[in-house]
Amino acid sequence: MGVISAGVQDCRERIDRACRLAGRQAESVCLLAVSKNFPARAVREARRAGQRRFGESYLQEALAKQDELADLDLEWHFIGPIQGNKTRPIAERFAWVHGVDRLKVAQRLAVARPANLPPLNVCIQVNVSGEASKHGVAPAGALALAREVVGLPRLKLRGFMCIARATGDPAEQRSQFGRARALLEQGAGLGLDTLSMGMSSDLEAAIMEGATIVRVGTAIFGQRQYDKETTP
Ligand SMILES: *Cc1c(COP(=O)(O)O)cnc(C)c1O
Repeated sequence: MGVISAGVQDCRERIDRACRLAGRQAESVCLLAVSKNFPARAVREARRAGQRRFGESYLQEALAKQDELADLDLEWHFIGPIQGNKTRPIAERFAWVHGVDRLKVAQRLAVARPANLPPLNVCIQVNVSGEASKHGVAPAGALALAREVVGLPRLKLRGFMCIARATGDPAEQRSQFGRARALLEQGAGLGLDTLSMGMSSDLEAAIMEGATIVRVGTAIFGQRQYDKETTP
């Protein structure tokens, strides 16, 4: 078995174990494989291991990969920051967008989503750590934004996405993820069903706090050689 197939399998086992500990069904958590900085052939290998949902952060890289992999049945999620002038290709080429953090971007996605496609699934990114370097709306403004986005045509608001501050302390991880969970609870009535949270280093804590999508890169594909997010 190749290293990527083994990574997919290990990751599913981690999710299963965390779900058992949390008293949740394993099917209630969906694995999004984050393939940014990895070539199309890595996605192909993960697909052979049964993985169908892939997350990408950089638009040009993602579009090239999608073209190269057009023969496969894949579901693409855009998880990077969204520039206002890039909303059209995002709305046309992805099934989900996780990083919506302002109304203007949501409006542009709504206008650009082709009528022949199902509604674009959207999560509002919430800055649960309060770090200036992180994107996302402040928790205090998240529900107001959700109430505006939920009314937009061609979009389906699914819930909230967040990235916790890097810390090895599971209690601190859980307290950050708990802020997103609280928003989902406060937003009951908006018809939301998604918490996109948890990555390679903290997916267990996220599942304890109700994550329904975990976004995992390194634990599946290995260390990224060049991560634009941490490079100025
Ligand atoms: C890169 C990235 C991930 C995956 O992170 P890993 O630590 O490699 O699992 C998840 N979510 C977002 C938004 C990312 O940019």
